[in-house]
Amino acid sequence: MTLMNPSLREMRDELSVGEEFVNRYNKPGPRYTSYPTAPVWTDSFGPKEYEQALAAAEEKRSLVSLYMHLPFCECLCLFCACNVIIQKDKRVAPPYLGVLKKETDHISHSVSRERQVVQFHWGGGTPTYLSPEQIEDLFTYTRERFTFAPDAEIGIGGSACDHARAPGDGAQDGLQPAQHGDSRLQARGAESGASDTAV
Ligand code: SF4
Repeated sequence: MTLMNPSLREMRDELSVGEEFVNRYNKPGPRYTSYPTAPVWTDSFGPKEYEQALAAAEEKRSLVSLYMHLPFCECLCLFCACNVIIQKDKRVAPPYLGVLKKETDHISHSVSRERQVVQFHWGGGTPTYLSPEQIEDLFTYTRERFTFAPDAEIGIGGSACDHARAPGDGAQDGLQPAQHGDSRLQARGAESGASDTAV
């Protein structure tokens, strides 16, 4: 019989964590606040190398992962270790979105339409710093320039500040709030394009 709501004890009994598993991860690792992670950043990778990487991915016809970076937050979380811009004045968003769209457009010329976007992640900062209209506009702008897989995985980071929003805000974006205490919102590509492209 399948238990619909297993207790913690039942889940623990199902879980098998051996010594080999524990030893595999029992070591220090970088805190993952950016992609690529800071330890692999190098001055030898510039615009020319970036264009070459895009061309190589195009030649391979690899699937596409897009990352949209929104650096702003309204308030600072106590545990924050990100390179974030705390800004309550939302007038900073439109000029930034203009640049983001320009880059989105530029990159789309290096990604042919038969290559599907299978992952689309919005991070920052807090993407939900944007208004629902701005989120929808940026999402539509991107979707018009790339081919999204029907089951594309779409994730958007949120902040505790945004929990103060009225219930239902963002519903028109196809976004569903995750559990309270989880700082992420998740969505699936409803109609709509691993893993070489960042915007
Ligand atoms: S939402 Fe994220 S980026 Fe913004 S202040 Fe909190 S931890 Fe930092």
